[in-house]
This record gives sequence, structure tokens and C-alpha cells, in this order.
Amino acid sequence: MGVAGRLRVAVLGATGSVGLNTLDVMARHPDRFEVTALTAHRKTDELAALCRTWRPRVAVVAGPDEAEALRSALPVDAVTEVLHGPRALEEVAAHEMVDAVMAAIVGAAGLRACMAAAAAGKRLMLANKEALVVGGALFMQAVQRGGATLLPIDSEHSAIFQCLPTDRSLWNDWIDHIVLTASGGPFRTRAPATLSAVTPEEAVAHPNWVMGRKISVDSATMMNKALEVIEARWLFGLEPSRIRVVIHPQSIIHSMVACRDGSVLAQLGTPDMRVPIAYGLSFPERIESGASRLDFTRMNDLQFEPPDPARFPGLQLAYDALRAPEGATAVLN
Ligand code: NDP
Repeated sequence: MGVAGRLRVAVLGATGSVGLNTLDVMARHPDRFEVTALTAHRKTDELAALCRTWRPRVAVVAGPDEAEALRSALPVDAVTEVLHGPRALEEVAAHEMVDAVMAAIVGAAGLRACMAAAAAGKRLMLANKEALVVGGALFMQAVQRGGATLLPIDSEHSAIFQCLPTDRSLWNDWIDHIVLTASGGPFRTRAPATLSAVTPEEAVAHPNWVMGRKISVDSATMMNKALEVIEARWLFGLEPSRIRVVIHPQSIIHSMVACRDGSVLAQLGTPDMRVPIAYGLSFPERIESGASRLDFTRMNDLQFEPPDPARFPGLQLAYDALRAPEGATAVLN
């Protein structure tokens, strides 16, 4: 812990959608959090602006050119040490000055830093689902051996986590199955014959969430939900047959736990990533996230429908990969 017991946080992928939302939540609670490290890949101007605001001890970028650009964009008396490369990401994630790591790098590039944070026993807030999809059992072993606290940030997995008791040994007995909700993305109702002509801009225009481009495209194809099925398999220790997906276009219910006794527990909220991020930062407490509140009197309709396997063939690939020999999920990713 830092000054006056504040949680010292490293935000990996600080210039991205999840990274910026994390800093937004942290800015609301200067008494609880301090930023120890910020990382980006190539957006050095954006990272320099964040470093001027947050004054982290360390900043990491892709390579020597980006490091030089960042150094020259910072004031001469800056407190921030500038490092570069994947090894530096691992060092930051495992550093003794860091209590908690927000893993918000996109894609498998985030794997090694996540593994380092897990092995070092950090509070690991995992947005970077691809790291768990690729790492699978090895990732979970690293968490267990390192004594890390793994907290899901993906809104669906945070929803499940919020519905479950904090005592993980109860999970298997509690859960009959889980239901991951999916919005269906921008092409849920688009005529299949026109799908081959969609543009990248149409694909990233998500109806409910504002996210980075890669996850937005994955949402349009529902490959994102496929990755989330695999993520859920590892986070909650469930066989694939106990993980179901339903399309819920309003994205108000973020996912559900169907319990053994017939109860179904759901977590609801406006679609705003600051809610699961705030829970990851404050668990087991709850803090203000900045998200607007649900107004039940203005909610007309909550719809549910099964995903169409012809429109979204990628979803089944998750189940196939989980039943295939180990490593298939990494190939799928
Ligand atoms: P963005 O594309 O908005 O941001 C990605 C971040 O990672 C940026 O800071 C980027 O730096 C950095 N980065 C990109 N490539 C590399 C690399 N090779 N090495 C190191 N850093 C890299 O992504 P999102 O914030 O949307 O998503 C981040 C993760 O969170 C993904 O795994 C996504 O699936 C997951 N997630 C996102 C949600 C969302 O609402 N956005 C919701 C749930 C999960 P730079 O800016 O310099 O390129």
C-alpha cells in the first residue's frame, strides 16, 4: 500500500477504452488509489498527457523510438521513468511498488504481463480476456501458485462474480449453469445476404457499448462471446455444458447465475464499463463509479433470444475448442 494506505495501481493499456475508464473511476477516489505505472503501445502523446496528470513512477511504451518520443513530451523535471518493450511490462506488473494491476492491453500481447502479475500475487483486474483464453489452465495455476486475487472486469464475468458468494469453494455447488448475455451487436437483424458488404465503421458501431475497435468487431461477429465462454470456463471452473449464451439486445442484464435450487441471480445496470471496473478496484467494498442509474419506470422491454448459429457461426467454435486437446483455445484466439 502507498501513502495513507492507498492502493498502488499499474494500468496496462492506459490509453485504451478500459484504461481510460479505469483512470476515470480512480480520479473520483484520490484518497483510495494512486497510479504507480501507466503503459501504452504507440500513442505516446496520449500517454504523455496521462503522465502529466497522474505522475506515475514508471511509464512503458512499445520500443525505443516511442520511449524517446515520450521522454521528450514530458517536462524535464518529470518524476516518471520511461521504459519500453514486453519485458518492461512484465517487470511493472510484478513490481513491489504495485499492489494492483489493471490488465487492459488488447489481445494476446497482454499474456506475459498478466502471468507476471499472477505469479507475483497481485490483485489482478482482468479485462484482457485474450490472455486467459490463450493461457487457460497455466494462467489459473499461476494465479493459484502466486496467491493472486483474480477479479474479472469483463462486464459479463463481473456480473457472474457479483452474483456468487465470495467463498469460492461454494461455487460448484451453487451453480447449475451460467448464462452469458450478448447484445447481438450491430448486425443482429441485418439481412444475411448483405453481411459480406459491411464496412469496418459499421462493424465498430456497437449499439450499446463504447469500446476499442478489436472487441467491437469481435462483438459484431460474436467471436467476443466465444472468447467469453472460454474465459468463463477458467474463471468459474465450469464445464462448457454449464455455460450458456442468450442474446439480450438491451444489455441491461449483464449475465446470470442459474442456481441448483432453481433461483436465477442476475446483475443489472446501465451498460457502462466503469461499474465492473469500480468493483474490481474496490472489491469487496463498493465505490461510486460515475455510471448513471437504471430507471425501471423508463425501461420498456427486456428481450431475450437464442443466438442464430447461421448468423454467428463463431460462437460454436468456443465449445469445439474447449472440447479439443489443450492449446486449441489459443489457436482459436
Ligand atoms: P483499446 O484498443 O481501446 O486499448 C488497448 C490498449 O492496449 C491501448 O492502451 C494500447 O496502446 C495497448 N496496446 C495495444 N497493443 C499493444 C501491445 N502489442 N503491447 C502493449 N500494449 C498494447 O482496447 P480496449 O480497452 O477496448 O480493450 C482492452 C482489453 O479489454 C481487451 O482484451 C478487450 O477484449 C477487453 N475488454 C474491453 C471492454 C471495453 O469496453 N472496451 C469490455 C470488456 C473487455 P495504444 O493506445 O498506444 O495503441
